[in-house]
Amino acid sequence: MADYNKPIPIPDPMTNGPYWAGAKERKLMLPRCTACNKVHFYPRIICPNCGERSIEWVEATGEGYLHTFAVQHRAMGAWAEEAPFVTAYIDLKEGDRVFTVLRGVDPTKPEEIFKKIGGLCRIEWDEANDAVNMPYWRMVG
Ligand SMILES: [Zn+2]
Repeated sequence: MADYNKPIPIPDPMTNGPYWAGAKERKLMLPRCTACNKVHFYPRIICPNCGERSIEWVEATGEGYLHTFAVQHRAMGAWAEEAPFVTAYIDLKEGDRVFTVLRGVDPTKPEEIFKKIGGLCRIEWDEANDAVNMPYWRMVG
């Protein structure tokens, strides 16, 4: 935990409190609209699909599929020392898509990552401080 040197968000109880509470328990919690039954990410108090304000929270599988990726050769702040690294969009099994840093792939071999598009990814958590676990995704498929 003391080694975590990346930016850490401040949980906001009004919008994303359940997300970060779940993260602390290494559970991916997603907001789901009770009107249209679709999950969305990032957390909002209004459904981006139908505009209703009836949001409930559900525990997700923490699994999804690689949608696309990019190799980051330059970055700012504490991320600079990580470059090159891979960022990706993951299609959640429950629906919607998350942006993440993707682990378990070699950023010097993008042609190998390209072959894994559609492959299974799983969320994992880094303990950033006493209140926040940060999500990352790992290529497993
Ligand atoms: Zn909705």
